[in-house]
Amino acid sequence: MFSEKMVSLGKKRSVIREIFEYGNVRKSQIGADNVFDFSLGNPSIPAPDEVNRTMSELIKNKPSVELHGYTSAQGDAGVRKAIADDINKRFSAGARPELIYMTCGAAASLAITLNALIVEGDEVILLAPFFPEYTVFAEKAGAAVKTVKCREADFQIDFEALGGIICAKTKAIIINSPNNPSGAVLSAETITKLSELLTEKSREFGSEIYIIADEPYRELVYGGIEVPYIPDFYKNTVVCYSFSKSLSLPGERIGYIFVSPDASGCEDLYAAVCGAGRALGYVCAPSLLQYTIKEVLGKTSDISVYDKNRNLLYSALTEYGYTAVRPDGAFYLFVKSPEKDANAFCERAKKYEILIVPGDDFGYEGYVRISYCVSTEMIKKALPGFKKLIEEYR
Ligand code: PLP
Repeated sequence: MFSEKMVSLGKKRSVIREIFEYGNVRKSQIGADNVFDFSLGNPSIPAPDEVNRTMSELIKNKPSVELHGYTSAQGDAGVRKAIADDINKRFSAGARPELIYMTCGAAASLAITLNALIVEGDEVILLAPFFPEYTVFAEKAGAAVKTVKCREADFQIDFEALGGIICAKTKAIIINSPNNPSGAVLSAETITKLSELLTEKSREFGSEIYIIADEPYRELVYGGIEVPYIPDFYKNTVVCYSFSKSLSLPGERIGYIFVSPDASGCEDLYAAVCGAGRALGYVCAPSLLQYTIKEVLGKTSDISVYDKNRNLLYSALTEYGYTAVRPDGAFYLFVKSPEKDANAFCERAKKYEILIVPGDDFGYEGYVRISYCVSTEMIKKALPGFKKLIEEYR
């Protein structure tokens, strides 16, 4: 006998993966250049030169046993200090190295944080559209999941709906801004209102409600837009950060958790993070990557390509008659499906070799996600297909 839940999780491929696999088959049949695969969020621009240069220098200069050896379970002290300093340089969150925990990317950050926070009977709120793995991580941590939809007009929070589902059992709400899949950035006004609502509800229920700020896209914003730093607005915050997208390093698995010093019981919460990391086997994030990150903090890949893709795709699709909110960040465009069933629309798109993902798994039916972390050339080649596709609905 095995865990039924895990067997089913392991067997059920995500819709995104299904489409990606279909794309690979099609590419082998008709040639990679003729398939327009917008399904994955895999960065398409290289990591900054400094990353490879730093790695080479570390390999050349740092004693091998040290470079490839274990660091502390929570990460190298010097690396955590550099990250705390970097946070404090940009924000007023008062980060301290002893509240930072190095992880294998945002996925591990989230799984650890949820396991640290959740006790029996707790609920976690997700704002739809949301990264589908949240449900997997939250349920595995023992939480019941409640979801609430963001406003269709701008993908900011619908406070009336949110206020209606917060209850005495609410332990945490996961915020992801810039958002996958909508590309929305929650404004300072929204975060201020959210902080006020959570403070009021905590008082009403005599409980502590935590924000888990999932921030792998923090640096991927366009047009000079600011991404409010949640710990500067709300005390009970845990930041789950990752370098996967900002440095185009998703396969290297490196990120961190930062527990706000203002969070209620922050010392014990950090201890619980260390405990959850230990219990889940997420100790000592990859040493080479930790040492590399320390030297390149503040750098990002050249995101101007994503900005160009965003403008090209948004302008063309809206001109053809598609409806979408212009994304301010991340590398996704969330488009309203011209038919009610987004799955049927995605199937129809395959006729033009266009691979896009239905919003259903993101908790938002009737929409599709188009990842524009692809080559600008591919977008240009796909546009006539997008045009013909919407014309089928006239
Ligand atoms: N959170 C969101 C919103 C994501 O889009 C992703 C990956 O696409 C993750 C978390 C996981 O990131 P990582 O690769 O750092 O584990």
